Amino acid sequence: MTNLPAALRDLLATSVPLSTLEVVEEAKSDDGTVKTLFRTADGKSVEAVLMRYRDGRRSVCLSSQSGCPLTCTFCATGQMKFGRNLSADEILDQALHFRRVEAIDHVVFMGMGEPTMNLDAVLAACERLPDVGVTHRRTAISTVGWVPGIDRLAGCEMPVSLALSLHAPNDGLRSQLMPVNDRYPLAEVLAACERYRARRRRKVFVEYVMLDGVNDLPEHARQLAELLDPRGYKVNLIPYNPTGAYDGSSPERIERFRAILAEHRLTATVRLTRGREIAAACGQLAASLAG
Ligand code: SAH
Repeated sequence: MTNLPAALRDLLATSVPLSTLEVVEEAKSDDGTVKTLFRTADGKSVEAVLMRYRDGRRSVCLSSQSGCPLTCTFCATGQMKFGRNLSADEILDQALHFRRVEAIDHVVFMGMGEPTMNLDAVLAACERLPDVGVTHRRTAISTVGWVPGIDRLAGCEMPVSLALSLHAPNDGLRSQLMPVNDRYPLAEVLAACERYRARRRRKVFVEYVMLDGVNDLPEHARQLAELLDPRGYKVNLIPYNPTGAYDGSSPERIERFRAILAEHRLTATVRLTRGREIAAACGQLAASLAG
């Protein structure tokens, strides 16, 4: 844009900014993962991560809120103060930031915040994602199990996928890890997932973060297998990125857990760990700067 006079460029930069977000810090890891900490115009922290995979996939993890009102005990964002819901522009600008450098083809709403508590803005951003190269089928919204949000997604026109953060196979343990379980207990959450499945005819992806000695015992795997119909769910076991309160399960324990699920014909994959040395787990970068 150097063909425009400098004064006009300055005016454009302040009155028609290219992005609603300012980059505060960017960390790159050896595996190609890039994590960016942004600041909104009113000074709120937002994080997003670009994950590069060997098969060429370029997946971006987006935040839907600055901070999070839910207080999951293992999650760095849950320990921060809640800021506010992000606007659709602030959500899309995270993706555009990475899109300026290279093409992206997948989006997961697994950054800061609970997307179903800001669903209008999240869905408005989703509507525009195909314009930046990400189809609805390659977009996943992850929820703690916020029942009204799951029901709204079941009726949504766009074929975005649903991921459920389950993390425990019984109410006692789940409430300990995720206080939101007191409001929407397991049976209600799974009933909502069944309604979603009946309408969408698509599997639900279950996320299960592996905490050493807490939720990774063989009995937990058996309970989980009893809870989930193998035709309707695919489990993703997540190696824990330690943020304080817990230790992560060893690879052997994770494999034992996966094998028990497989014996019950429940498909489970172990998530590839990306960007561990750059604090790429949800909320970690913002939390380390705040603290
Ligand atoms: N609120 C939504 C989306 C954000 S969290 C939800 O909970 O689904 C996205 C995923 O990251 C969740 O499954 C969460 O449990 C997981 N997560 C949070 N902190 C983590 C950590 N330190 N290590 C590994 N996974 C973590």
